[in-house]
Amino acid sequence: MMSNTMQDAMNQQMKQEFYSSYLYLSMSAFCDRANLPGLAQWMRGQAQEETGHAMKIFDHLLDRGGKVELYELGRPPADFSSPREVFDQAHKHEQQVTASINKVYGLAVDERDFASTVFLDWFVQEQVEEEKTSGLLAEQFRMVGEDRPGLLMLDRELGQRKSGVAHTAADAT
Ligand code: MG
Repeated sequence: MMSNTMQDAMNQQMKQEFYSSYLYLSMSAFCDRANLPGLAQWMRGQAQEETGHAMKIFDHLLDRGGKVELYELGRPPADFSSPREVFDQAHKHEQQVTASINKVYGLAVDERDFASTVFLDWFVQEQVEEEKTSGLLAEQFRMVGEDRPGLLMLDRELGQRKSGVAHTAADAT
């Protein structure tokens, strides 16, 4: 059994992960509209992965006899100025998620809720990969800038992503 404070923090984090999925779906739709189906597919895979993160927390709450509460999700932006802005925002978003995971982890340590710290270890590691991948891609989109052949090359490369699981930019291609 976890404390009410911990339960609330887990429900909030689950909401964050569902919102990430929502945000990446919106980014996927934007990329599709921009005639960049490879980027759209990559972002769709990212969205699936985020739903998986949320469901891990969902199951952890149930396993611990906690109460799952599905909070209202915000409305993600539907429009972006460029693919470069999409990947820049995705990187910033992952940095925020890391900060949020660290907060929940700190709470688990304070409460000596070691079942939660062990559970959250996976998320801490995952965020290292998420920040690495999104940071690398944001940088590559900055390098490409307005260069159309470069953009099409990245679209082809990211379009090779097969599943919702990507841990490095290489895996994601
Ligand atoms: Mg996540």
